Amino acid sequence: MAEEKTAICFIDHQKHMVIDGRYLKDLEPATRNLIKSDYPSAKVTDFICDHDLLKYQLMRVDGMVRSDVKQTRKINRRLTRAMQSDDYEIVDVNENLEKTLTFGQRVSDAVARFGGSWGFIGVFTFVLVAWMFVNGAGIFGIKFDPFPFILLNLALSCIAAIQAPIIMMSQNRAADRDRMNSENDYHVNLKSEHELRILHAKLDNLTQNQLPHTLEIQKLEIEILGQIRNELDQLHRNQATFSGDNQSDEKEMKTGQKTTPKE
Ligand SMILES: [Zn+2]
Repeated sequence: MAEEKTAICFIDHQKHMVIDGRYLKDLEPATRNLIKSDYPSAKVTDFICDHDLLKYQLMRVDGMVRSDVKQTRKINRRLTRAMQSDDYEIVDVNENLEKTLTFGQRVSDAVARFGGSWGFIGVFTFVLVAWMFVNGAGIFGIKFDPFPFILLNLALSCIAAIQAPIIMMSQNRAADRDRMNSENDYHVNLKSEHELRILHAKLDNLTQNQLPHTLEIQKLEIEILGQIRNELDQLHRNQATFSGDNQSDEKEMKTGQKTTPKE
């Protein structure tokens, strides 16, 4: 049988087979640093047995999980704070404006709405035509405003003079509503962007820290499983040699028993 290579573990100073441990230079830098923090004099050429290595591998897993949880909590706290921050309350512009309307403003809105409709044009045309027809033809014997309808001109001028400022009032209010709307939009956008940034940070943390950590933890798990398998193999080998010894002992005992009567 070929001589299996052995090495001395630098922690417990016992002889181990090389497959039952690792050289420090073959370890992950993070795990190696953990060992070096406990044993500053350890060199990269030193050997550590699986039994002692397990402690540091578990410490490494623990450290990664802890740092991930800490980072996630930190980002979640930031996100919660950003979502709860009420430095600007998003308002329903229409509802808010409706509440502060004065009677005059309501009237101006109604007048502007009616003045800018086909209904107004229809009614006005009818009134104009009727006025001109009645005064021009003198149907009922009344001619209060004969041709060229000077009173009608005056009435039209008055209506135009009043209607213009009323429509302007209503337009001012429309401009107010637009301004409030855009202000509202600006704040909503600002808040959304802030939240988006934090979500971005969360995603970055997930892909750049947690995912590599998860993969590293899986790798460590596989290594630990391999070590367990090695130890099981060792156990089986020991058992085989032990039972082999027993059988040969029994054989010797039997042959001894057989040989004794012959003597
Ligand atoms: Zn050891």
